[in-house]
Amino acid sequence: MRDEYPAIVGQAQRCGAQIGRASIESGGKEGVAFVLDLTERKRAAEEARESERRYREVQTELAHANRVATMGQLAASIAHEVNQPIAATVTNAQAGLRWLSAQPPDVEKVRQGLRRIVDDGSRAGDVISRIRALIKKAPPQKEPVDLNMAIRGVLELTRGAANKSDASVQTQLADGLPLIEGDRVELQQVLLNLVINAIEAISGVSDGARELIVTTGTADADCVLVAVRDSGPGFAADTAEHIFAPFYTTKSAGLGMGLSICRSIIEAHGGRLWASANVPRGAVFQFTVPVYPELSS
Ligand code: ADP
Repeated sequence: MRDEYPAIVGQAQRCGAQIGRASIESGGKEGVAFVLDLTERKRAAEEARESERRYREVQTELAHANRVATMGQLAASIAHEVNQPIAATVTNAQAGLRWLSAQPPDVEKVRQGLRRIVDDGSRAGDVISRIRALIKKAPPQKEPVDLNMAIRGVLELTRGAANKSDASVQTQLADGLPLIEGDRVELQQVLLNLVINAIEAISGVSDGARELIVTTGTADADCVLVAVRDSGPGFAADTAEHIFAPFYTTKSAGLGMGLSICRSIIEAHGGRLWASANVPRGAVFQFTVPVYPELSS
């Protein structure tokens, strides 16, 4: 038995069983041996893993559907945004043709016009790339993300909507903010939802300041903190938690899924998302995300 023991244990493990033995007296002559059938436990663990995987898959699908819906909501203002550099390109190209036909042709003016065309073309192209990146369906990544840059990208896309609501958008983005670990697209989706909600809240007030402020900083050594404040009507203190419940909405065309999806995205990143009253009025939504591990020490 002594020599055969490792072989028996190996075979038992392959069959989903566990073998053990223990001496019950110091000489080691007497002992007990047992065989445990682990099939059931293994099946339960397998099922738990599978349902966890399905849950994550459904969450990703839901997040993607929410992203597409949000981009749809922004379509009109983004089209307006992209139209501006395109219109400027046409104007610059027409001016360039005139400078070329002049006698003598003004090559320097043509060069300046072409530079503006290149800048405007890149600006329009950047907006389109951002939209495509947000609409793309891809499994969540774990990569180093610069949240300040992610915020700037989102504010580019929401600039038209903010202008339409006459909301002034300010940023206070911390210098040297550590990178965080996560999925840039999902985090931009959270920012997009919070910023759109803030703009919608602001558009509902008729007097006073119309401000939206996005700030970043470090919460503690291991976390980055992002805050989105607005000067909208805010919410009653006892609703601060309800607003995160799925399907909770106070908007006639609202779905009430945005904040609930945002919270699950942030929690999947190991962070926290919460809401409170802004001073002197409005709402503030804050979230934390852990710093990219290699850079945290
Ligand atoms: P929806 O925008 O479709 O209503 P959300 O989950 O994004 O769904 O928001 C749920 C609710 O939370 C909103 O209907 C609104 O009542 C409240 N809310 C969200 N953001 C703000 C905000 N910035 N100021 C005041 N209330 C807000």
